[in-house]
Amino acid sequence: MAEGRIVKALSGFYYVQSGDKIYSCKGRGVFRNRKITPLVGDFVQFEESNPGEGYIMEIEKRSNELVRPPIANINQAIIVSSAVSPDFSTLLLDRFLVLIESKNINPLIFITKIDLISDKERMNMNSYKEIYEKIGYSVEMLSSKQPDNVPVLEHYFADKVSVFAGQSGVGKSTLLNVLKPSLLLKTAEISKSLGRGKHTTRHVELMQVNHGLVADTPGFSILEFNEIEAEELTNCFPEMRAIRENCKFRGCMHHKEPKCAVKTAVDNEEIPKFRYEHYLSFLEEIQTRKPRY
Ligand code: GDP
Ligand code: ZN
Repeated sequence: MAEGRIVKALSGFYYVQSGDKIYSCKGRGVFRNRKITPLVGDFVQFEESNPGEGYIMEIEKRSNELVRPPIANINQAIIVSSAVSPDFSTLLLDRFLVLIESKNINPLIFITKIDLISDKERMNMNSYKEIYEKIGYSVEMLSSKQPDNVPVLEHYFADKVSVFAGQSGVGKSTLLNVLKPSLLLKTAEISKSLGRGKHTTRHVELMQVNHGLVADTPGFSILEFNEIEAEELTNCFPEMRAIRENCKFRGCMHHKEPKCAVKTAVDNEEIPKFRYEHYLSFLEEIQTRKPRY
């Protein structure tokens, strides 16, 4: 049996890359019994029936999976935030970071549209860059309209499966097109002129960028913390995760508890105040959400 990875799913066919060949495969009925559907990103075993065609026989265990977009075994998520239009928001950035951390996916931060900001605003963005780098994240500032600086991003993609995340309009499609011009994703301008709205991508595909694979569709359309428990939230903030053991009470939520190492770190400015405030607002959101039935 041959082994490969599903790089595209379309109309009931799974396109499996094995070596430098792509096989169009059908799933075998067994998956239905096991309540598992092949996903883009899956490592599979398949049987070649005709040249270039085959049947998927086995799906390897996944390290993670997303529902929207439906992709498995993702290594990293690139959160795209624009410096302006829409305005840079640490609240939204932190929301994406938490969602990605909770899936055990490594986040990166790309800040786009820096060609549109003044030097003063750029200094402000630089200080955010430093704050997030101190937490441990990689941060890049770029302009997709000055693509000379884009090649320096390519090393991030090597040997990884990446998805892009970020709110609408921040420049995800534009950046993907600069990285891979042949792909020509529809950016907002084009899709508007076609009158088809924003959701122009109808299938998921992993495309090759610098020996890595990148999902051609912006990820994370679900922005609620439905699957995150209050106890897990600290783990989604690396700077809190690192010191939570020092809180006096086990299971400390870093809110009203005394002798809390996280609150002390906030007072000492080792943890940025705005990050802690976002933590508290996410905590409240999780604790007051409607129960799921
Ligand atoms: P998406 O919704 O995140 O995929 O955003 P798009 O890629 O469709 O971009 C939204 C708008 O921002 C388009 O008009 C792009 O041309 C523009 N845009 C994207 N990146 C940049 C950038 O780095 N600089 C400037 N000036 N405009 C950009
Ligand atoms: Zn605490």
